[in-house]
Amino acid sequence: MHCNRRGFMKLSGAALTCLSLGQLGNALTPVKAYAAGLKIDGAKEVLTVCPFCSVSCHIVAYVKNGKLVSSEGDPDYPINQGALCAKGAAMLTMTTNEHRLHKPLYRAPYSEQWEEKSWDWVIERIARRVKETRDKDFLETNAKGHRVNRLDSMFLLGTSHADNEECALFHQAMKGLGVVHMDHQARI
Ligand code: SF4
Repeated sequence: MHCNRRGFMKLSGAALTCLSLGQLGNALTPVKAYAAGLKIDGAKEVLTVCPFCSVSCHIVAYVKNGKLVSSEGDPDYPINQGALCAKGAAMLTMTTNEHRLHKPLYRAPYSEQWEEKSWDWVIERIARRVKETRDKDFLETNAKGHRVNRLDSMFLLGTSHADNEECALFHQAMKGLGVVHMDHQARI
């Protein structure tokens, strides 16, 4: 029988628990009843990769009825060995947090109110603001007459929610505009 490290730990833990409870003369029924109440009981284990940074820790996702019910670091993966940082450990809340936004919110200058907007409206507005800024501030040459082709008035801050390929695209798009100031959350 193939048994990986996680499976071995589970079997060992279960065997030890049964042995020690049996030795103490305790009935196992309450333990079974407790296990049946765990949220991962009967859930399917799906191996996935944390999307938040390039360390790419492996995560065991527990899925029940098509929904993520729990997640934890994969102890069999040599890079993270079961550990997750605070962001990876909070992956479950990405799908379950009641405060997660599902539509873009916009707050007009000097307004105290947030308004719900469509994605089309938001994308069009961002594109227009980017074009206006670039048209206004793009610098072809510096004070010495050297060609620089750069845009100093825009800055890119990458998000940990973007994967490596998306980050490469962001970077190329910004370079195309002449943006030279960039940073990224996922450079830990
Ligand atoms: S964000 Fe944390 S848990 Fe996720 S891959 Fe990076 S180090 Fe690992």
